[in-house]
Amino acid sequence: MRKTCLLTFLLAILFGTACSFGPSPTPTSVPMPSPTPARPATPPATATPSPTVVPAAVVTATPLPSPTPLPPIQIRQYRPGVLLHPLAAAAVGDAVYAIESGKLKVLDLRSSVDPRIIAPADNTVEGYPIQDLASLAYAVQKKALYLLDRSGAVYGWDLAGRWWLDRKPGGNSDYSQEYPVDLASDGQAVYLLDTNNGRIWKRSGDEWVQLITSSQLEGGIRLAVAGDLFILVGERPSRPARLLRLRSGNLTEVKVGGGLDEPSLLATAGNGSLLLVDQRFRRLRLVDGNTGETRRIATGSAADILALTGGEVTVLLGSDWLVSIDGLLPDQLAIHPVSPSAQVLSPNNPAVLSNLPKLHMPIAGAHLPGIDRSLPGSPRPYRFGIHEGIDLYSSTVGATVVRGTAVLAAGDGVVTRADLDYVETTPAQMDQYLKECLDKRLTPPAIQDKLGGRQVWIDHGNGVSTRYLHLSGIASGIKVGSTVKAGDVIAYAGNSGTPEAADGSSADVHLHFEVRIGSGYLGQWIAPIETRRLLADVFDTP
Ligand SMILES: [Zn+2]
Repeated sequence: MRKTCLLTFLLAILFGTACSFGPSPTPTSVPMPSPTPARPATPPATATPSPTVVPAAVVTATPLPSPTPLPPIQIRQYRPGVLLHPLAAAAVGDAVYAIESGKLKVLDLRSSVDPRIIAPADNTVEGYPIQDLASLAYAVQKKALYLLDRSGAVYGWDLAGRWWLDRKPGGNSDYSQEYPVDLASDGQAVYLLDTNNGRIWKRSGDEWVQLITSSQLEGGIRLAVAGDLFILVGERPSRPARLLRLRSGNLTEVKVGGGLDEPSLLATAGNGSLLLVDQRFRRLRLVDGNTGETRRIATGSAADILALTGGEVTVLLGSDWLVSIDGLLPDQLAIHPVSPSAQVLSPNNPAVLSNLPKLHMPIAGAHLPGIDRSLPGSPRPYRFGIHEGIDLYSSTVGATVVRGTAVLAAGDGVVTRADLDYVETTPAQMDQYLKECLDKRLTPPAIQDKLGGRQVWIDHGNGVSTRYLHLSGIASGIKVGSTVKAGDVIAYAGNSGTPEAADGSSADVHLHFEVRIGSGYLGQWIAPIETRRLLADVFDTP
């Protein structure tokens, strides 16, 4: 029975039908009665007409008992491109809320219709525009989702449809060096992990307070609550990945049976257990939070699990698919999802990311900066912005980057921009640019371009390009249309476009370097640890 069903499950993943390990499965091809009769047929009068807004009242508000139980294992395959890279998820009744392509989306466990976007009017809450969403946590006692965006803001949205700004981004010197990466909730309290400062914030009452700051938490990638608070810390060239437990203010390491190798996801599984995915060994495991003992659940392409949520229902999400498991987890689960379409040229399409060309670091001898705040996707509170490139400073990349240091083409290609007639920003212009960012609480693209100073762009084909910013000069012969080879000197490092340069200072010399995919940047809408691993792979450097 079990073996037969496992085979069906593989086919089900491939063909988008459903299968059950239970004794009397309900075929999902049979139309189900609506599990939520209270769901209104029309949006409430207060709903905004914007096409990207889903009126909150249409979302299942309360997990009601289903008139027809769903089979224990449920599979959904979505239309290609509608759920390229889920980043975080929470299950509430028949609804699964997921962060994907910077948006909050809701999926219905009872159908494979396209996910719906949930957003406030004008995508703005209390005057703050929601920027790319990165993580979420569901506080069940408040029936509210907390949503982290890449500018560092936390927004609240409750199942009654109310939006509020819960934690402001930017404008606060406490936040200037932070990089919040994940949220978790025990149902009541909400926790926020800042990977750069090695800090956990706790939402206590209506305030965000610092719970703990420790160098052990630097490089943290995921938070989960299972009785205690658990923190998954990513690997660095100097140290392996690890799982930490915070109990009574003390951090201790949980020795995970079978080790950790390039872990990516952590979620609460109930009964003090955790779900853990590590990408290198392509496995999903159940971990005892006290002993570290593990039980392997899924093999095969567990690395293709991009987000998961545990509890009464376990939901695994990948590129354009979802598997939900009601109740006990099976002993064995083989996941062979349909490959995502490489036709969708998006910086969060796994099919595109797995086929990136190999590139050279643009500064001779440089490795990646050790801190994620120097990588793409990190917040820039001084301008309510998001960093889209890699910052290479002498102090962080193991190579000299001073004014005049040669900047090298990262790959073969054609120059599409070379600012040969660049004029430095004046102090008054710089003040105006930064004021506009603060007024709008985001960085308008035209201003972001000005803040990049003198630039060279190279098109490498297949939608991949690279950009080199803050240059002090451009190499002779380099102009729009020039053909370059990997390693060619194209320009010289500097500080153009920075506030320091506007003031006539020679400080803050560094190379800001971007890898672009289509109209986005490498690092957009994916997890920071994925960005680091992708860059290490593309550049073949630690
Ligand atoms: Zn930069």
